[in-house]
Amino acid sequence: MSTLRQDPTTRQWVILAPKRADRPHVPVWDARPPLPEYDPSCPFCPDHEDQTPPEVLRVPAEGDWTIRVVPNLYAALGASGPADRAETGWFREAQGVGAHEVVIESRRHDARLDEMTPDEVGGVLRVWRDRYRQLRARPGVRDAVLFKNFGRLAGTSLLHPHSQIVATPVLLPRLQRRLGVATRYFEDTGHCVYDDMVSAERDAGVRIVHDEGPFVAFERFASQDPFETMIVPTLTQSSFGQTDDELLPSLGRTLIKALGAIRGACSDPDFNLIVFSGPANRETEEVFRWHVRILPKLSTPAGFELGSGTSINTVPPEDAALMLREALRTVAS
Ligand SMILES: [Zn+2]
Repeated sequence: MSTLRQDPTTRQWVILAPKRADRPHVPVWDARPPLPEYDPSCPFCPDHEDQTPPEVLRVPAEGDWTIRVVPNLYAALGASGPADRAETGWFREAQGVGAHEVVIESRRHDARLDEMTPDEVGGVLRVWRDRYRQLRARPGVRDAVLFKNFGRLAGTSLLHPHSQIVATPVLLPRLQRRLGVATRYFEDTGHCVYDDMVSAERDAGVRIVHDEGPFVAFERFASQDPFETMIVPTLTQSSFGQTDDELLPSLGRTLIKALGAIRGACSDPDFNLIVFSGPANRETEEVFRWHVRILPKLSTPAGFELGSGTSINTVPPEDAALMLREALRTVAS
């Protein structure tokens, strides 16, 4: 029979229905074709720097770049100045103030985070952190989301390895909900819900994928989607902007393990990776931890999910974690 589980970080319920995985179905994706190291038609490949808007960051500053950050040519937001709201009768709108940047993660067209070294991924994470800090500090910006779309099903239009940051003049509902739930949990218990979740998952053990000490990758008890994987710091940090240089390779290693395990266990699926980060201040540090969610595109939300806001997960997270740990053992051997 199916069961329902509640996510303590959002208070949302998920339906675990493993039986539904037995339905007749066709795979939603084809095998990923290998990419060339260099693509002459790719605007993110070296020697095509004039095909992107002028870069806002280049690493290293001199010589051949390894990472570039550029404004998105098709930016969702990008105006500067105050995000003044205008009311026309009953209707309200505001200027598209904010930023939409692209982090080009490597010179190589065929690079992948799960094939890079922890130091290389640490370098990408450093750029994410630095741009996140800069954009969050910008006047008129109230929230920001950092994400990576990998593969067509995840919404990417360019295959060259890249991620994005969007800074918004309005608060983002998904993040605000998590902050609200975490605040209520703290008022009820005096604890941070994320710290309690990590320690409960460590005690249970069955859903841990990789435990690096400062960062833990695991399948949540109430995973919304099959193989949804979460990385949470065990440090007192509410904002991704607080991550320390010396711990970035460790975070990089955790990310490589999580992505490599998903690749191995799920036949290299497309995925979305999202960094949820709160603001950096004492109040949020008590209640909230920044965290990473990796969502492999193994199913498509249909009428029930869209109508209810409730997921049906067909793979119990304990089974998913077992398969992910198995995939890591295979990669290591
Ligand atoms: Zn390219």
